[in-house]
Amino acid sequence: MPIRLLSSEVASQIAAGEVIERPASVVKELLENSLDAGAHTISIAVEEAGRKLIEIADDGSGIPSDELDLAVSRHATSKLVRSDDLFSISTLGFRGEALASIGSVSRMTVTSRVKKEKEGARLKVEGGKSGKLTKVGTTVGTTIRVEDLFYNVPARLKFLKTDVTERRAIDALVTRYALAYPNKRFKLAEGKNVTLQTTGDDDRRAILAALYGVDVAKQMLEIMAEEEGYRLTGFISPTSLTRSNRKEITFFINGRWVHEISLSTALLQAYHTLLMVGRYPMTALFLEINPEEVDVNVHPAKAEVRFRNQEKVFSFVQRSARKALLAYSPVPNVAPSLWGTTRTVPSESRSTVGLDWAIGHDEPVAENRDQRVENSDPFSVGGRQNAESSPQSAVRGGEQQSTFERIPLLRLIGQIGATYLVAEGPDGLYLVDQHAAHERVLFEKLMAQHDMQKISSQSLLTPAVVTIPPQSAKMLLSQISVLQHFGFDVEEFGPNTFQVRAMPALFMGSDPSVALRALVEDFEEDEAPLQNEIEKKLAARVCKRMAVKAGQGLSSEEQRTLLTDLEACDSPRTCPHGRPTMIHLSVDLLERQFGRRGAR
Ligand code: ADP
Ligand code: MG
Repeated sequence: MPIRLLSSEVASQIAAGEVIERPASVVKELLENSLDAGAHTISIAVEEAGRKLIEIADDGSGIPSDELDLAVSRHATSKLVRSDDLFSISTLGFRGEALASIGSVSRMTVTSRVKKEKEGARLKVEGGKSGKLTKVGTTVGTTIRVEDLFYNVPARLKFLKTDVTERRAIDALVTRYALAYPNKRFKLAEGKNVTLQTTGDDDRRAILAALYGVDVAKQMLEIMAEEEGYRLTGFISPTSLTRSNRKEITFFINGRWVHEISLSTALLQAYHTLLMVGRYPMTALFLEINPEEVDVNVHPAKAEVRFRNQEKVFSFVQRSARKALLAYSPVPNVAPSLWGTTRTVPSESRSTVGLDWAIGHDEPVAENRDQRVENSDPFSVGGRQNAESSPQSAVRGGEQQSTFERIPLLRLIGQIGATYLVAEGPDGLYLVDQHAAHERVLFEKLMAQHDMQKISSQSLLTPAVVTIPPQSAKMLLSQISVLQHFGFDVEEFGPNTFQVRAMPALFMGSDPSVALRALVEDFEEDEAPLQNEIEKKLAARVCKRMAVKAGQGLSSEEQRTLLTDLEACDSPRTCPHGRPTMIHLSVDLLERQFGRRGAR
């Protein structure tokens, strides 16, 4: 075939393919246009999951009638003039492609009026061909009606999912935009059902409830962090609230919903060791950053961005989320009605008992505690009051209070079933799982040495010879330097056989071959993109193997040491894999159980 220029219809359809994939993409583009136009109220109506109709009406600035024709042409935008502008974009749109794209794959009607004009104008576009402009009486703002989406691209129609799925995508999209713009009024109607309506009075938690339900919304932790031109606000789920996939990890950058792998990774690192393997948090986070620091022109649907200083953004997000999490890790409590099962303390009763008690003692707790969360940490004891004025970061858990992340000083009572330690705290009884607790203690000690780059190693009197499966042996060989860094002196000793000559001093007395085997168990590749992450995983795994087991008798001395060590941990309430280390029976609960206080 000879080379030919594509007809403008075909060219626009191709272009549309990149931007308009499904009904939700139409909603997204039109929503963004309304927001760019400064609309305060945006009303969206959808029929048959958007296949039949998507209509968006806004009270924004409108489009002058003599520009309407231009607005629906390709590469027509009012938001960008020079190519330089591309690097400081503060609007959501800038490519001048959405209206043209939508118009080329549907029957689109644009009705709009600006304040200056007495009348509005209407323009119909069908399969990319514009009709004649007509005058209409209408209010200031823009209404865009998109009918029969993909009527002329049957192949696209085939790729659409079920109505339920497409509708859910629209729902999720609009709800997220509503969350990102809590001061705007959104209304979404699907057929006759109004599925979302927001008041525009800035109450993000109420919108969160629409997205996840009241219970979940109540538990979400609010983040507000600011640092050197970065600002992060929004919500993250506590460690007790998780999902089995990453779909509920939402990021907005400068008001734009993006799917940024690097940000998700940063976030997951913040949760590291606090969640069980395979569990993911739910988040709605809004990052604001100087437009010049971020390139938004790297993806056709603008769903991905590139940061000028990725490391810095990454670290900021990770630290902010981590702070919020550590400030609040509730001790699982025993529900009065459900003896034997655990649940998280309901928000009101998550009080600061224990906190007062802990500071009442002359232990070096306060200093220790603060070194992790640096200077003006608003979660630390004295910092609560000035949380508001703190420029660093603050966490508000709605009506929830952030509990002191540490555990109070505990008085050992003894061991039961050679598995649990029983201890008394200022606020009741603590049952500590010795294995999980020891795992946590070893992990934090090892990571502390790791962070200081000096994990102390001790030689074995008789080196241990360990044979492992070939696959693992290969892995181990590729990680020898990491092992060395961790204090293991390991050498190849024959096919699939290794000699361990030294191991971390922390683990002395334990079986070196068990430690080595733990190290070479399979990796979950996708969760370990960074070296640091790999090291943490290794550390967590070895510590699990090296920790005392359930059913192992401990001397009183050992029990006491374990408790003291646990008290000194940064995240004493969970093991590195996210299981709880303790159950707390509060004085309050005991009193109610014994009928000393009115049962609620
Ligand atoms: P872009 O948003 O990238 O500029 P679009 O094709 O989405 O491109 O829109 C083209 C132009 O039409 C916009 O630049 C804007 O001037 C105008 N426009 C589109 N939608 C609206 C709206 N809801 N209110 C006011 N102006 C709009
Ligand atoms: Mg646009």
